[in-house]
Amino acid sequence: DKVLITGANGYIAMWATRLFLERGYSVRGTVRSEDKAKFMKDYFSSLRLSDQFETTIVEDMVKLMVGAQEGAFDEAVKDVDAIAHLATPFPDNFVKEPEEILRPAVQGTVGILQSAIKNGNKVKRIIVTSSCAAVMARPEKPTRFSEVDWNTTAPKQVEEQGSNTPMAIIYRASKVLAEREAWKFYERHKNEVQWDLTVLNPPGVSIPHKFFRYLGVQLKDVTPSIHDVKSTTSLNTSLQIWCNYVVLGCNKTKQELSDSSCWVDVRDIGLAHVLALERPEAGGERIIVAEGVSSHSSRFLLQDAKIFTGNYIFQEWLDVANSITPPPFSSHRLPIGFPEILDDDRVYKITYDKSKEERILGIQFHTKLQTTKDTLEDFSKRGW
Ligand code: NDP
Repeated sequence: DKVLITGANGYIAMWATRLFLERGYSVRGTVRSEDKAKFMKDYFSSLRLSDQFETTIVEDMVKLMVGAQEGAFDEAVKDVDAIAHLATPFPDNFVKEPEEILRPAVQGTVGILQSAIKNGNKVKRIIVTSSCAAVMARPEKPTRFSEVDWNTTAPKQVEEQGSNTPMAIIYRASKVLAEREAWKFYERHKNEVQWDLTVLNPPGVSIPHKFFRYLGVQLKDVTPSIHDVKSTTSLNTSLQIWCNYVVLGCNKTKQELSDSSCWVDVRDIGLAHVLALERPEAGGERIIVAEGVSSHSSRFLLQDAKIFTGNYIFQEWLDVANSITPPPFSSHRLPIGFPEILDDDRVYKITYDKSKEERILGIQFHTKLQTTKDTLEDFSKRGW
């Protein structure tokens, strides 16, 4: 089968592409420029996976659609059996108007569904990568969310505050609006199309590599990040957020390192895309894909449970790194932050109901320790 992956050079999409290729699928990836296409081709040829891989340029998801009959993805969807739509604007700097983010997010998503109706006569399933940002707004009190929840706050905030809305809220609103429109479009057309829709909702996709800059290590391109990271300033936004907390953690206060959130390893959300295509039951479903110990998993020792839950308190990453023996760097001492934070009863503000993911996808998630170790091993292999 051939899968179309949009924004294929992105942080998550690179992993999704790799995992699809490794499982024997053909992949057509959309990228915005030839140099990004070249980066991908070179990378997959180094893994001997390039035979089944091709790229197509979609410079701007929106450009062709304003006042035109053609959709940006009209050509890209031809002859593919499935689509994974991951391209989205991820604001990393100032925008004048929220529309600069909202329009490509929403129209890009609706646009690919329209193109699938027009030219995607072989398409059986479309996977749209939404976000937990579309599920919840940061709660005051610890709260457990599930797929029935929607973030109603962010779009309202954008409406009220217009161009004064903080960037993070504009992004969150873009995910809500894009996902909502995807479901509406699907509901309107589901009786006339041969494909169904699956939406994946990951929380922040973190890898600890920013964390390692905090450790004083010069970052170039580290596993498990396989997209084109030339410098720490070109990291994607979720990693930048990570950086603000953990990499620059030495400047963070105790209170900030006590803050909690939820995460998923980039490889696991990449895999979720493959499984979302392979599992018939995923059709028509919205699925939260968050890291965490499955309720039926016995892989984890009890004493590990404290630090290996899918939620995290930022300090936990420091503890995980410090728990690795022998220490990963002989010439560099890892910072310890404020370990006493974890002596108190831990309050994780956001938790997710993982039952749907377990039932349909059943991913064996990486732990913080595994991800941390993998990255450190990669560092030492590279001599950093
Ligand atoms: P990246 O920023 O790494 O990748 C985004 C991709 O979209 C890039 O290929 C980018 O192209 C492309 N793109 C952006 N704007 C346009 C446009 N106007 N036209 C065409 N292509 C465009 O993102 P991630 O891998 O982090 O995220 C992938 C998906 O997962 C997104 O939908 C995101 O919302 C979602 N997600 C991500 C989370 C995270 O923590 N990373 C958490 C939850 C959800 P280029 O490289 O050329 O800029």
